Amino acid sequence: MKEFKVIEDFFKQQSVQRKDVVIGIGDDGAVTHIPEGQALVTTTDTLLSGVHFLPSTNPHAIAQKAIAVNLSDLAAMGAEPAWISLSLSLPEVDQVWLEEFSRGIREHADYYSVQLIGGDTVHGPLAVTITAQGFVPFDQALTRSQAKPGDFIYATGTLGDAGVGLQLAQLKRKIDNPEHHNFLVNRLDYPTPRLLVGTSLRRIANSCIDLSDGLVSDIQHILRASQCGAVIHVDKLPLSQAMIESVTADEAIGFALSAGDDYELLFTVSEEQKGLLETNLASANIKATCIGQLTGVAEKLELRQNDQAYEFTHLGYEHF
Ligand code: ADP
Ligand code: MG
Repeated sequence: MKEFKVIEDFFKQQSVQRKDVVIGIGDDGAVTHIPEGQALVTTTDTLLSGVHFLPSTNPHAIAQKAIAVNLSDLAAMGAEPAWISLSLSLPEVDQVWLEEFSRGIREHADYYSVQLIGGDTVHGPLAVTITAQGFVPFDQALTRSQAKPGDFIYATGTLGDAGVGLQLAQLKRKIDNPEHHNFLVNRLDYPTPRLLVGTSLRRIANSCIDLSDGLVSDIQHILRASQCGAVIHVDKLPLSQAMIESVTADEAIGFALSAGDDYELLFTVSEEQKGLLETNLASANIKATCIGQLTGVAEKLELRQNDQAYEFTHLGYEHF
């Protein structure tokens, strides 16, 4: 099967047809419109077989995760997603695989109202690269660099689930409760980009980042960019019921601190904005937990448990 036939059969038909797309798939480039007063936010993430997903992962999950991790980056910038492009490297043209993969792409594109506007299809080791683009009103993008000492640190959802899910998928761990097992594996395979949180944080949060490599690792990006320090109370880390009932209390803290792939948002808010934040989160039914506070000691991360120093050496995932 030729490249154009793969594109034609699996990717050209998209149910989302956005008004801001003038030319989508089929020409040498896509042509799109950016609304007045909005800035364009662009992000790219690659998922490599054997690195970001197990070769046994079902293609539907691979497709949806590839979209979700990119939308998570847009969420962390406070942006609203609009378009995606897909660069796909395939070792072979496997019709069944492509059917499931493209269904995953279509379903997620529908769900998030984003349009697939182009891409590239090549022969090679299995790799999925998605570029996502979205809008944020001028001057309202959330960044890593504007955090201030005294800011309260929040995390959305629950932390560490995907790390346990990975051990389950790798058969390194077994959990008897099937509901907990499925919940944790789904947290690995089907992360939820916190888009509503991101847009609600505009003009409220001082900084924001999404948690892809693990809390201890990712928070350092904010500390470095903003020249702050942080105190995190490990007893306040938000943990799922499935996690609490499946691993020891110390293991749970370890997963929550250092396992990657959660795609929750970590953000900081000043004391003045804390009240407004809490009201907005409650009215939007969003769960976010205050886990600590920033300090003026540049780049120093302190972990505490019941106000005692908590020793922890395992850092997050590093590629190199
Ligand atoms: P070119 O040779 O000009 O780069 P291609 O043959 O690679 O064009 O692609 C033809 C059209 O299909 C382009 O509009 C491109 O953006 C789109 N396309 C290619 N691969 C994909 C893909 N995996 N998903 C979505 N669109 C794709
Ligand atoms: Mg091409």
